[in-house]
Amino acid sequence: MTDSLSTRLQQVRGRLQAACAAAGRPAEAVTLLAVSKTFPATDVQEAHACGQRAFGENYVQELQQKSEALAGLAIEWHFIGPLQSNKTRIVAERAHWAHSIDRLKIAERLSAQRPDELPPLNVCVQVNVSGEDSKSGCAPEEALALARAVAALPRLRLRGLMCIPEPTEDAARLAAQFVELRRLKEQLAAEGLALDTLSMGMSADLELAVAEGATVVRVGSAIFGQRSYPL
Ligand SMILES: *Cc1c(COP(=O)(O)O)cnc(C)c1O
Repeated sequence: MTDSLSTRLQQVRGRLQAACAAAGRPAEAVTLLAVSKTFPATDVQEAHACGQRAFGENYVQELQQKSEALAGLAIEWHFIGPLQSNKTRIVAERAHWAHSIDRLKIAERLSAQRPDELPPLNVCVQVNVSGEDSKSGCAPEEALALARAVAALPRLRLRGLMCIPEPTEDAARLAAQFVELRRLKEQLAAEGLALDTLSMGMSADLELAVAEGATVVRVGSAIFGQRSYPL
């Protein structure tokens, strides 16, 4: 027997509340982003009926299909996957947020393609804090220059930093990578870039991320169940 989506969503909310309490942070300090990649629009609809409003997608095509299918619902769509320059238009037109900005060219295209009638697109610069070659994200030492350039684009609103740490169960290593992202954000603040968002923490490590200052946790499998193909 598996729990229902609403039960799992309740469990994740409980974990998030407990993590905030343990960290001495108010529960409203952390937003739960439900990562619905690979799951059908009907699952998004079900989570929405349970009060969930922010959803994350990794694939432009899924963002397009689900945002179209659920156009009548008040949903905040977050694009969190790798972004190629020939796919930016859909994100610029459909998303409220993009977390995965790791080069200026992508940011420039999103800014140019953001429709005039929409507010600026909220964005995060993705930083490769694990130093793994295979990972997307800019190098930590590039983050300041990229953030400055992104902040200057007229149709984007730079909100913060995002990371995906290396896949490890070593809590100390994970915590060190979350701390690095928080320190980078503090460094940017010292340089005059005041940001309000740290997008870090997933199903397995949201407690650690909240302890280190996450303001958005991106949770997929703990809400929607195991994905049938690994991503
Ligand atoms: C898939 C994904 C998540 C969610 O991962 P879970 O382990 O299922 O919670 C979060 N962030 C990004 C960027 C992802 O691709």
